[in-house]
Amino acid sequence: MRVVFASGKGGTGKTLLSTSLALHMSRAGSRVTYADADVEEPNGHVFLRPTNVVKSLVTVPLPVMVMPTCSGCGLCQEFCEFNAVISLKDRAVVFPELCHGCGGCLLVCPEYVLGERGRDVGVMTRGRSGDMDFRMATLHVGEARSAPLIEALTSSLPADGVVIVDAPPGTSCSTMAAVRGADLVVLATEPTPFGIHDLKLAVGMTRALNVPSVVVVNRADLGSPHVLDLLEKEGLEVLASIPHERAIAEAYAHGEMALDVSPSLRRAIESLERRILQ
Ligand code: SF4
Ligand code: SF4
Repeated sequence: MRVVFASGKGGTGKTLLSTSLALHMSRAGSRVTYADADVEEPNGHVFLRPTNVVKSLVTVPLPVMVMPTCSGCGLCQEFCEFNAVISLKDRAVVFPELCHGCGGCLLVCPEYVLGERGRDVGVMTRGRSGDMDFRMATLHVGEARSAPLIEALTSSLPADGVVIVDAPPGTSCSTMAAVRGADLVVLATEPTPFGIHDLKLAVGMTRALNVPSVVVVNRADLGSPHVLDLLEKEGLEVLASIPHERAIAEAYAHGEMALDVSPSLRRAIESLERRILQ
């Protein structure tokens, strides 16, 4: 069972919920893997504090000239829909930041002058947090595209047990890379105009990917009650609501798990657990 925590916007409690569920289910005896796919700003490790950490580089293929016999025919440039390669008179120049590593230019090159080398895009971290398997991917600073790193992380996840993924916020390619293949998406939102607006986009994304989703409303007693109207209109299942609580905010600010100090958070997590195990 792969459960992905997503949200239209940041700061809605995605990490709070995903780390709490991982800890709760691990304590209850489930085999849990927690994966932080919020690669531009992973912070699950702050709360789960993994040990026995092993790090490895993640690379993506990048075309390079391996022969000096480029004819300047331009077929590689014509093929590349990302404008990541230009053809000059006697060579092709690849822009690594734009390249998606699809390998198409290698296939269309009539002179076979292109090969591939690996380009580092980020770091994969593995470790243990109690009885839980912990994984995290961190994008290199300045790297524009995070989807390949997220795909490397999600493709390394086990097929059995409960896999809990903390996705990047938003509805970009990166978020979709984390959500694709989920058995359930938990959308964390808050009852503010921004929260409602971005929730609509996130719901559209899960529907486009044909992935079932449920909603958890965080800080439910603050802001607008219209979020509940929207949820009802959209036919969305609200699994839990968590009020704004000082104890949660304080624990989170100190990098502590709030699960043990907030009965309302615990109830929300137990609702999620029941939905996953049903
Ligand atoms: S590998 Fe794909 S994305 Fe990269 S330059 Fe070649 S055609 Fe463009
Ligand atoms: S397709 Fe091959 S031969 Fe033609 S410009 Fe590109 S690299 Fe050169």
